[in-house]
Amino acid sequence: MIRSNYHTHCVFCDGKGDPEEYVKRAIGQGMTALGFSCHAPLPFPNAFAMPAENFPAYVSRIKALQQQYRDILPIFLGLEVDFIPGIESFQTTFSSSPALDYTIGSVHYVDLDEEGNPWPIDSDEATFARGIATIFHGEVRPAVERYYALIRQMVEERTHDVVGHLDVIKKYNHQQRYFSEEESWYRAAVEETLAVLAASSMIVEVNTAGLQKPVGEMYPSRAILKRCRELDIRVMINSDAHTPAHLQAHFAEAASLLQEIGYREVYQRTLNGWEAVPLTP
Ligand SMILES: [Zn+2]
Ligand SMILES: [Zn+2]
Repeated sequence: MIRSNYHTHCVFCDGKGDPEEYVKRAIGQGMTALGFSCHAPLPFPNAFAMPAENFPAYVSRIKALQQQYRDILPIFLGLEVDFIPGIESFQTTFSSSPALDYTIGSVHYVDLDEEGNPWPIDSDEATFARGIATIFHGEVRPAVERYYALIRQMVEERTHDVVGHLDVIKKYNHQQRYFSEEESWYRAAVEETLAVLAASSMIVEVNTAGLQKPVGEMYPSRAILKRCRELDIRVMINSDAHTPAHLQAHFAEAASLLQEIGYREVYQRTLNGWEAVPLTP
């Protein structure tokens, strides 16, 4: 059983719970490692990222917990960093901090809306639908293709260790209401992205949070994970917890899905770097 999680959000960004509550819960559940991955600061108003001025306090708080619990639980300091072309110089201050143990790269914003604001694809369904209608003139396909093009651009820049929730663009696509994941254009966009990923050393996370969202599925989908296996892409299991109660949510399901499609190991950040650990029941 995998008992580590490196994708968590505490009170420093949009999560609920002090970091120490996460640590105590992780110890109580017998976890073997815990990583904090607050949303990195952004240079525009938003509802989820850590304010830039709180970054030093975040780093020192997690570092202090690392020390305090070093004999009981390995704790790692990470960041979930948005990939948005054009804001790199603002972001590097945070994402290149030598204090960090790892970073997760994610795409939550695709292009700009009619008011010139970055369009969040995963905040709520009305915002998702509005972006399709106004930015992409009612066409879902170019919006989805643009999302995957941004993921490829991010992977090609090779600045992150992990790709966050690879197919989160499907978050509001329950019952395939916006597009069919079976369509050839969708498969082609995914396939092109996986080819870029396979040529990189990035780890794809199996993010179980999607099971609690409208789509009711993990990110990425089973079909994508199957292709990841065929292409030998490394994977890890995370829950994207926004509350300590979700630290290991649906981990057993994720592990058995991975085993069923042929994965024998997943990656974990340890004190020696990234290491493969066997997927055992
Ligand atoms: Zn995210
Ligand atoms: Zn997250």
